Amino acid sequence: MRLHILGAGTPYADAARFGSSYVLEVGKDSIMFDCGPGTTYKMARMGLKPTEIDHLLFTHHHFDHDVDYPCFLLARWNESIGSENELKVIGPKLTELISHRLMDEKEGAFAHDWIARINHPLSLHWFAERGGRLPRPALKVNARDVEPGIVHSGDDWEITAAPAEHVEPWLDSLAYRLDSNELSVVVTGDTRPCKSVQELATNADVMICMCVYVQEDVEGTPEAEYMTGSLAAARMAEAAGVRKLVLVHQSHTMDLPGETERALSDISSIYSGQVIWGRELMSIEL
Ligand SMILES: [Zn+2]
Repeated sequence: MRLHILGAGTPYADAARFGSSYVLEVGKDSIMFDCGPGTTYKMARMGLKPTEIDHLLFTHHHFDHDVDYPCFLLARWNESIGSENELKVIGPKLTELISHRLMDEKEGAFAHDWIARINHPLSLHWFAERGGRLPRPALKVNARDVEPGIVHSGDDWEITAAPAEHVEPWLDSLAYRLDSNELSVVVTGDTRPCKSVQELATNADVMICMCVYVQEDVEGTPEAEYMTGSLAAARMAEAAGVRKLVLVHQSHTMDLPGETERALSDISSIYSGQVIWGRELMSIEL
């Protein structure tokens, strides 16, 4: 199983880290988690094609996790010629509503684009040149709001969601666990350390975990209360018995000389498994 890290940052627009997005290659399927700033462009930089992604799961709807969603939908649809699989989109409450508000024929903020492209001869010409059969199909989104439990599956994998704790009641957050014949992988999304995410990760092979700061820098602040830092990530991974910990969603300042080492030293003082310091545009064999 391969992991591609497209976004490994925060809402801060840093050149090396900006927002969240990960792609897991599981057998013949590519499954994307979150679609933060620049995801589609970063896919191109990594040699990944939007049309290869048939499954997209949102952890929550902060913009650092979903703002590239319209770009991804339009790019995937625009590069499609009609023989691709349908994209399935899954997430907590708001996933259906946002999809509707983006692409619905009458109410979608970006519907003007695809409506022009299914009608104007210029777009139809290029669609046919790429091998598409006219009439050009409309852009439709199959999006589904889900609750904790088993939320999605493929031929040889299944995804379970558990509640994460981040900015409720304003936004709901979910953590996901993918179980396949090969491996079990957990994506924590944004969360403070909590029992439900720890239980979801029990004995997982890999946990892709938020690690947004060096813990001692934020003790006693809301950052420590509603997010996961170095010590908290290590405690959760160790308690869950996770074999490998992939750290993501780091603040850009954590790449400064000495800061990465401080975070890793915190983690190795508690967690005994393998640790990977996630960076954008990195691909990892899990
Ligand atoms: Zn975030």
